[in-house]
This record gives sequence, structure tokens and C-alpha cells, in this order.
Amino acid sequence: MRGREDALCWSPVRGLKVTGETHPRQARRAALLVRGVVQGVGFRPFVYRLALEEGLAGFIGNDTDGVTIEVEGPVDGVEAFQARLRAEAPPLARIDSVAAREVAATGEAGFRIVASAVLGRVSTGIPADAATCPDCLRELLNPADRRYRYPFLNCTNCGPRFTITRRIPYDRPQTSMAKFPMCAACQAEYDDPLNRRFHAQPNACWECGPRVWLVGADGEAIAAADAVAASIDRLVAGQIVAIKGIGGFHLSVDATNDAAVMRLRERKRRYGKPLAVMVRDVEAAREICALTGAEEALLQMAARPIVLARRREGGEIAESVAPGIPWLGVYLPYAPLQHLLFADHHSTKTGVRALVMTSANLSEEPIAIDNDEARQRLGAIADAFLMHDREILQRCDDSVMAVVDSAPQLIRRARGFVPLGVELPLDSPPLLAVGGHLKNVFALARGRHVYQSQHLGDLENLTGLEFFRESLDHLMRTFEIEPETVVHDLHPGYLSTQWAGEWARERGLGRIAAQHHHAHLAGCMAEHGLEGPVIGLALDGTGYGSDGRIWGGEALICRMESFERFAHLEYVPMPGGEAAIREPWRMAMGHLHAAGFDVESGAMLGLFGSAEGETRVLRQMIERGVNTPLTSSLGRLFDAAAAVVLGRRVVDYEAQAAIELEGLAVDEPDEPGYRMEIAGGDWARREPVRISAAPLWRELIGELRAGVSKARIAGRFHAGVAAGFVRAAVMARSATGLSQVALSGGCMHNRRLARLLRAGLEMEGFQVFQHRNVSPGDGGLSYGQAVVAAATLAKRS
Ligand SMILES: [Zn+2]
Ligand SMILES: [Zn+2]
Repeated sequence: MRGREDALCWSPVRGLKVTGETHPRQARRAALLVRGVVQGVGFRPFVYRLALEEGLAGFIGNDTDGVTIEVEGPVDGVEAFQARLRAEAPPLARIDSVAAREVAATGEAGFRIVASAVLGRVSTGIPADAATCPDCLRELLNPADRRYRYPFLNCTNCGPRFTITRRIPYDRPQTSMAKFPMCAACQAEYDDPLNRRFHAQPNACWECGPRVWLVGADGEAIAAADAVAASIDRLVAGQIVAIKGIGGFHLSVDATNDAAVMRLRERKRRYGKPLAVMVRDVEAAREICALTGAEEALLQMAARPIVLARRREGGEIAESVAPGIPWLGVYLPYAPLQHLLFADHHSTKTGVRALVMTSANLSEEPIAIDNDEARQRLGAIADAFLMHDREILQRCDDSVMAVVDSAPQLIRRARGFVPLGVELPLDSPPLLAVGGHLKNVFALARGRHVYQSQHLGDLENLTGLEFFRESLDHLMRTFEIEPETVVHDLHPGYLSTQWAGEWARERGLGRIAAQHHHAHLAGCMAEHGLEGPVIGLALDGTGYGSDGRIWGGEALICRMESFERFAHLEYVPMPGGEAAIREPWRMAMGHLHAAGFDVESGAMLGLFGSAEGETRVLRQMIERGVNTPLTSSLGRLFDAAAAVVLGRRVVDYEAQAAIELEGLAVDEPDEPGYRMEIAGGDWARREPVRISAAPLWRELIGELRAGVSKARIAGRFHAGVAAGFVRAAVMARSATGLSQVALSGGCMHNRRLARLLRAGLEMEGFQVFQHRNVSPGDGGLSYGQAVVAAATLAKRS
């Protein structure tokens, strides 16, 4: 706890009002250390007001770990202050803890806000970006307000933060607002602790702040009295407009105009991947999706994630927005500029009611953020560009969430969540976890916190690596973490692994390799503070196994620092390796061959839509072991089933086949599943139990031939998979006596599977744990890697 001497080193902020009242010498004085998200979110002016209202003297200042407050006055006032501190905290604040102690009264008069602490380590917080608050929205749409229709208004309760900040401390000169000196009116708000814009770093108005303008595909400015209104006209006409947002550009098009959406898909070379749709408000979202209360709550979070929700049949959204699946990624405006797009639509009868707003990039490249970069990279896609001159300094895609098995789940953690930390249940030395390969996110850990980067996309090439390094430099500076250890995946071929090796060598750092599925499960354990051992089910697409094979359907006996493999899906051939991920028919062929079917028979060929010649080549590859790795992946079993049930030969985006299979079963009642069987293994001899899908395939093919509906088959397939893994958990309990089960891996995004697994496990008396603040997919991998490394290092010391 900070003493008086330290506090005396702080200097009062200029121009502050003081109450002038002197408190009796016998007054009580309390020192409070508040931890959580309490910097850059309007917490200090809130406390200032609270102290004035309760007639207390003292001070508040930002501290390395949060804020320090001292209040002095009558006992009742001090107590009321402490109660209201938690109850009435501003919307973006999150109080994790308040440590209070009594200190000697000083007879101080007035309440002060003191400057950021410069003692020891600098205060490290950069808040996350937050959606326009209701107060600002009212001003935006109020013709009498001085910020009427100003596309960049914000206050301490809302606005960009992380994405406009170059370096710490989070202060205007360190942000891209540095080049916009505030006008007198804005400055007065900024200096007034009773104003909603007190120390709102991006504060701006028509007089002094950033501007928008419209540019044609040729790069020439388009003269328009109102660039926003002109953009709307173009969208209504079916054009593609690139719109600069908070974390990058979006490509936008009328979501009700099928031809326009198709043009965007063709130009972006993205044919199947679902596109996110932005609508004006929750009411508009209800019109296109059947929303649950939990989903509506997610939509309205300050982070404004894209929420995957059940789409309404026959709604006005073009089928081409999310072809072949019953869900729609929907979200609400989070920047004033976006609100204006919809505000205008409702003033005209012909306006656009729903906009496709998709990250402006080509396939998995990083999102474009810079005006020139956007013109160069998107010139062939967009018909016009709605630009502005507030620089985006940190690339940040939209976050994606869904309600899975009645709980919110993070699918992509980016804007609105970065750079908020996630807690660790054990102390970690400074370390860097580089993540995996696809959907990369890295993590920096220190003490009891892990800070994950924004979603960086696939780490497959130099562009991806560049974004990785850029973001790493920024977060290392932000949190002043100098890693002593680097943790990476076990896969020697990953670009992230190779980069980690070089980086560790250059800097003389320690290295730890974490097995992919162990990391997934360690992350889930850590989120719940489970020390283990527990039974961990890692249900996933691809992860490099300790035996050099591709794992992904695993039951592990898991501790944070180590694991044993209890059971796994029986290995099947993956003809063509990586190619089998892009072409699910190859996986179908591999699975059916392993299940003993004659894959070259005419009936079989029809099932997975293949020609005899190519199938023969594949069979020969399997039999000779040429370019045919073995896999126990559950994701690949889903791919194979989708290829057979849906005829999905080739996929256009990751996990497409599995998502379509889940979608097919969305309205099916629960039925008994197809059977999986134990094919061998003996835990007593430390040979993992092998779970075979061969009987499942025989039943599935039989029903398909008997003309059972495909939706029903998809439902029974899910039930069979869930039951197979529940059985593995029961066997693991018999062998070890453990009764806690952690669930992780990319397949846990599958709602039906997640629900069936939990229900099945609970029916058997297990205690079940799922991820909360970290993605179960590869976006959460680096958090789990950090857990494995911290636990490994703790064990060594
Ligand atoms: Zn606001
Ligand atoms: Zn101004």
C-alpha cells in the first residue's frame, strides 16, 4: 500500500476546483486501492463527484495497479462513499477489488485529482475501445447540440482508445489525436472534473477535430456537401463503399441487395464465408434474427461484438450474405460515423436498413487501416471510400461472440477486448506465448495477468508476420513486459515456432514448447482456477501431437504443466495432408477406407462425389503411406461426415463443412446417436484407449441409403460423437478417480456438440468446465500456452 510520502510526490492537476471545506480533526480517513479497469474510463471524475457529494476531502490518482484514493470526513460519509464506489461505477469501469485501510486523518481540505503516478513503473493502462454511449448518441442526433452529426464525438464513457494510441501513457499527445489541438470549448470540457469529457483524450468537435470525406475508386475526391449522406446514396444504389472505422476499414454494401453482395464476393474472391451485417439497433436486429435475451445483451456490450444468432427465415437479408447456414453474424453501430449511416436511412423511405460490414482485406491478410494503403489494396474492390483523418494506429478486427450452451463464448477476441487482461491463477514471470498457426493471437504474461493481442489472422506469410511483430512491439511497450521465456507450439514447422526460436536465440531467452491440446485445456483449467489433474476433452481441428501425428479428438489427464494421453479417436489417413483440410471428400474417403468400406465401388463414389480415378490414386497413397499423415482429429471427422451427408467436396473457409453440418441439424430434436466403439488400448499399460468411428459410419451410411432425412442424420451424428467422448470420460474416471472435466478446442464452438457433451457428462455425474473469457479455439491458444509455461517454470523453481 502506498504511503503518504509517495502521495506527496504527486502534483495536483492545474485548474481544479476544491471544496474549500475543512473537516474536523477527529474525522475518519480511509486509503483505498482499487484494482480492475479503472483508468481512462472516467473513474477519476466519478470519484471526484462522489467525494463532493459525500462532503469528503482527499485525493485520487492513477497508480501502477489501478487507482489510489484517500477520503477523509465524517464516518457516515466515508462509508457511503465506499458503498457507492462499487454500486455506481461508470459503465466502462470494472472493479476487481478494493483494498481499504484506515489511516490517520490529516485535516486536509478539499478533494484533488492528482497527476498520473510517475513513481516506479509508469501507469500501464490503455483502455479498450468502446461503443458510442447513450449520452453521446443523443448529442449526435440533436440538431441543437454543438456536435450535431459530428462523426467523431466521444466522452470518458465511450470512444476509441487502444486503436488510436501509439504508446503509453494513455494521454492525448501519445494518440493520433495529437495533431488536433482542442478548441476553447473542448478544452474547457476536458479540464472540468464535473464534465463528462474530463480528460477524454479523443475529445473533439466540428471546430477542432477530424473530418470525413469521400473518394472515388480512381482516388479523386468526390465533391459532396455531406460525405456521409453521399455514401448512403451510393450504398442504396448498390455500390461497394470502403468505410474507415475504429480498428480498420470495412467493405460495406446493402445487405438486402443480393446482386450487390455477390459483386462484393466476386471482387473480394470470398464466395462462401459468412459476412457480418450491421443494423441500426436491437429492434432492427430482432427483425432479422430470433434473439435470446443473452444474445441481446452481447449485442449491446460496450465492445459491440459481432454476435452469431439464428437468422429469421424469409427475412430481407440476401441469402448470399451467409449461404447455407441458419445463423447470421449481426452487430450494432459502435462509432458515431456508423450511427449516422443508419440515422439517415430512417429519414428516407428508400434507405438501406442493413449493411454488410466486413473487414477490408483480401482473404486472410491483415485489415487495412491507412488511407493510402486502403486505396492501393482495395482499389479493385470498392467503388468509393469514406475516409477520415484520425489515424488508426493499431489494427483491430471486430470481435465475434455467440451464446453457446447458454453461456457467452468468445470466437474472435479483438476490438473492445484488447488490451484487457485475463487473470492467471498462478504467478508468471514475464513471458511471451506466440500462439499457433491459424487465427493467431499472441499473449504476454506477467504476475497474475495475461494480455492477449488482437486477432492477427493466419500466420502463414510475411504480411502476417509483420502484423505480429508490429503488434508485439506495441503491447510489450504498453505493458512494459520484457519476456524472459518464449513459449510456442510443439509443431516444428509453424512459422510462429520458427520465429519464436530465432527470437529466443537473439535475446538469449528460455524456450518452452507446449502441446496444442494440452495448451487448450490448461487454458480452460486456469480460467476456473483448477490445479488438476482433471479429465480434459480437447476436440479440435489440427494440432501437432507428441507422437508427431495430427491430434484433435483427445481425452487427456491434464495438469497445468503436464498431461498424459488417456484416449483418442482412432487414427485415420488424411490423404494429401493439408489438401484434405481444403477438400473434405478426401477425408470422407480416408474415414470410409479406415472403416472397411470399398471406397472404389460405384455406390461409395456417389456418396462423396468422387471419380474412380482420383479415388484409386488416393487409396494407393493411403496404402503406401505417401503424403498421408495420420490424424485423430474430430474436426476432420466432422469434415468427412459433411462431405458424405451434404456433398461438400471443397471448402471455401476454415471449418465450413462442420458449420454446415451443425446448421443442418439446427432444428432436430435430440435422438440417440450413432455408435462409437472402443477399438483397443490399455491404460494400465499406458497405452491410450482408441475410440473408433467405424460403427458410426456403418449406421450413418445405412440410414443415408434408407432415405432418412439428412437433418436427422446430422443430428444423430452429433449425438454419437458426444456420447463417444462421454464414454471416454467415464473410462478415464474409472481409471483415475477424477470427476472434473474440462472442455476445449475449436469444436467447442459447435453449439449442439457443446450442449450434448455437457448434458451427457452431467448425467454421468461429472463437474463440467468450459471457457469463459478465452476462446476455446486457436484464438485462445496463447493464453493456454502461457499457463503451461508459467506452471512449468513454477514447478522448476
Ligand atoms: Zn460518450
Ligand atoms: Zn472542439
